[in-house]
Amino acid sequence: MPEAQLLSGKTVSESVYASLNSRITHLKEASITPGLAVILVGENPASQVYVRSKTRKFEKLNLYSETIRLPDSCSEEKLLEKIQILNADDRFHGILVQLPLPKSIDEQNVLLSVAPSKDVDGFHPLNLGLLTAGNPRFIPCTPKGILRILEHYDIDTDGKRVVVVGRSNIVGRPMSILLSLKRNPGNATVTLCHTHTQNQKELTRSADILISATGVPESISGDDISEGAVVIDVGINRVEDDSEKGYKLVGDAEYDSVIQKATALTPVPGGVGPMTIAMLVENTVEAAERLLSP
Ligand code: NDP
Repeated sequence: MPEAQLLSGKTVSESVYASLNSRITHLKEASITPGLAVILVGENPASQVYVRSKTRKFEKLNLYSETIRLPDSCSEEKLLEKIQILNADDRFHGILVQLPLPKSIDEQNVLLSVAPSKDVDGFHPLNLGLLTAGNPRFIPCTPKGILRILEHYDIDTDGKRVVVVGRSNIVGRPMSILLSLKRNPGNATVTLCHTHTQNQKELTRSADILISATGVPESISGDDISEGAVVIDVGINRVEDDSEKGYKLVGDAEYDSVIQKATALTPVPGGVGPMTIAMLVENTVEAAERLLSP
């Protein structure tokens, strides 16, 4: 069997940015520059890298972004106060609170306090409720990016068996709901696996499309998938090696064995990752456009 097609999120994200250009120009003609506020609490090194790559993309596109850095010791009250100020600040069409937050802060209270109209991450319960009801407003960026990859590469989900491994509120759960909706991409028969799932291998082997978002490096091997499956690898995992950097990035999928058996696979890096940032930009542009036609 020929090797699998690589589904390049980098390529798809470039087409997203190209299609956003005219929309951004239109907004600027109306004196609106899409703006994003990113709140970063504490010094988590991975969070700092993620925030930097998000804001760098906004700078590159001549959009407005500001990172509000708060210390680890920041109280929940102080953080909620800051969010209220940003909710009322017209420069920002989107507000993103980088997760995870320090343990002393209740994540749900924080996500609830972001104005739903500025919730470009799509994590507010109102936006998650709209999504579940089949009428999404802001779709969380990673699942939205995966839908775009499937569309770009003409991967039909209608009537297909999809298995999603991982049920987090930011990736796995919204992904499973989106693909079960009566729309396109969607109309799939979806199974959602997690650490309490029994016979996971039997389930993943039955999938036409397997989406893994566990953060367990190389845990999905060729033996876990069916011949000809499409594999969407969301995981971004650092694994120590002998290189100068001391680590390499790997996905949840064991690349060498999966690529022998799948028909298509998202690589890590360069697969789902670039799409997450592209969808954040798109959601922020959408939020700004609502000012033109509220
Ligand atoms: P979480 O840790 O929040 O969730 C992981 C999920 O995987 C949980 O539901 C957990 O189950 C499940 N899980 C863990 N181990 C297993 C296992 N052995 N078998 C079955 N299920 C398992 O992770 P995130 O959703 O935030 O992220 C997942 C991965 O995706 C990470 O590698 C992260 O870096 C990456 N990521 C990549 C993005 C991108 O842009 N490419 C964006 C966001 C995340 P349970 O609920 O039972 O604990």
